[in-house]
Amino acid sequence: MAVAFVEANLRHVVSGEVEPSLRFAGGQSSADERLEAFDVSGYAASHNEVYPQPARGSSGISPYIRHGMLSLRQVWDHVADGPPRDVAKFRTELLWQEYARHWYARLGHRSRDGVMHRLDGEAKNGWNRAMACMELPLDELEEDGWLVNQTRLWLASQWAVRQGARWQDGEDAFFRHLLDGSRAANRLGWQIAVGVGASKHYGFSRWQVEQRARNLCASCDLALDCPVEDWPEEPPLIRIRRSSELTATADPAVATGPSKPAATGVPTAVWLTAESLGMADPALAAHPDLPAVFVFDEPLLGKLQLAAKRLIFMTETLAEIGAARPLEIHLGKPSEILSGVNVATTFAPVPGFAVRAAKIRPVVVHPYRWLTEPTNGTVASFTEWRNSVVLPA
Ligand SMILES: Cc1cc2nc3c(=O)[nH]c(=O)nc-3n(C[C@H](O)[C@H](O)[C@H](O)COP(=O)(O)OP(=O)(O)OC[C@H]3O[C@@H](n4cnc5c(N)ncnc54)[C@H](O)[C@@H]3O)c2cc1C
Repeated sequence: MAVAFVEANLRHVVSGEVEPSLRFAGGQSSADERLEAFDVSGYAASHNEVYPQPARGSSGISPYIRHGMLSLRQVWDHVADGPPRDVAKFRTELLWQEYARHWYARLGHRSRDGVMHRLDGEAKNGWNRAMACMELPLDELEEDGWLVNQTRLWLASQWAVRQGARWQDGEDAFFRHLLDGSRAANRLGWQIAVGVGASKHYGFSRWQVEQRARNLCASCDLALDCPVEDWPEEPPLIRIRRSSELTATADPAVATGPSKPAATGVPTAVWLTAESLGMADPALAAHPDLPAVFVFDEPLLGKLQLAAKRLIFMTETLAEIGAARPLEIHLGKPSEILSGVNVATTFAPVPGFAVRAAKIRPVVVHPYRWLTEPTNGTVASFTEWRNSVVLPA
């Protein structure tokens, strides 16, 4: 049904075939099942494993976290009774996600070209599918819309550090395919991998493939002439002046939203965004009797040309919401479709929300579900940020 919906209504704003992810179904029920099935035991030792697939210890819940079906706090609590070493490692990864959101909320579009260094690159494809360590993740990216963290690092490093392709184009290529694609985590991940957002870059070589994808090299046509046999050369990073916003901001609420519901009127509908597609979304939960409304942003999607998998995933999710309460789905410009409608919504810490909300003027804005309370302190590095915030119990 979702495939037919996307084919009929959204074909003109997606790229490639209209096919669902081979691995992930949308919907709150799928999110709940995935989380329920996830056992954190062994995570510390196995979360970086790539191949064969059964060796992987990562949870595969990121698409559901991305779209608000699972909150970081819920996932944090889910693993509470696991082995302490595994719980600590897993929770550190959740904090990376939280950090990416604070980082992007603070910097927005200013994060586009790197926050610590600049790295110029050529407009070209930086991936060679003849390499088994590229082909395996690229197939997954295109068919499943998902990658483990380790292969994201391999692909990013190969693209920009070894091949000298423009890293922002690689970021966009990921964004087009990933079901969990977010400007926050994707951009931060690329910046760390290629070194523009960190003090050093991630160096990709055959060594990691042999460690994390046992026997993959044996199937590679280039095994005897491996292009990543040795450590890569240092990329030509150019130091830039860091934005003062990285270390402090005057008013964190501007970028991170209200800490309690902010109301100026009585809502007649709940406006759902791509960040708030969970059944426990604060605005949905606070107004159970109101219809929900979602707008596929036609101008934006037309520009992004995402792979259809993402929109199929979102449509499946919306279908579950629509089975539980009245739901309208529109295609067009959110500010025009919602003009004059008194909506309640949940804050989203992304620049696109701020732009649309300024025109739509929601009458109630519910707080975003942060894992750690936003502060006006540093987001300059993960470690500095983590040391400055209060972690959940
Ligand atoms: C180049 C690059 C691009 C990335 N793009 C995205 C993206 O668009 N969206 C996205 O959600 N994550 C992104 N990540 C982070 C990470 O790779 C994915 O979150 C993770 O692989 C998702 O798989 P999982 O749910 O099995 O993770 P698990 O290992 O099971 O971790 C649980 C959760 O912790 C969070 N997490 C784990 N590792 C990271 C990390 N390094 N940074 C931020 N959050 C993390 C995710 O929410 C994840 O679902 C990127 C990383 C890199 C290096």
